[in-house]
Amino acid sequence: MSTETKGRKCDGKRRYSHLEQATRVRARLILQGAHPAWLRAYACEHCDGFHVGHRPGRRKT
Ligand SMILES: [Zn+2]
Repeated sequence: MSTETKGRKCDGKRRYSHLEQATRVRARLILQGAHPAWLRAYACEHCDGFHVGHRPGRRKT
């Protein structure tokens, strides 16, 4: 396994360098039919960027 970056948990996700950018993408996805409740723009703890998607962390239930 190569470890180019620490973690690589967000491999395959689109990364944004600004939260504002991620927020705008999220809004567009919602307009396209995505569910607002599980789409979030969040700061990634694995890289220095931001992602749009499910909020990381365990889900309850
Ligand atoms: Zn990331």
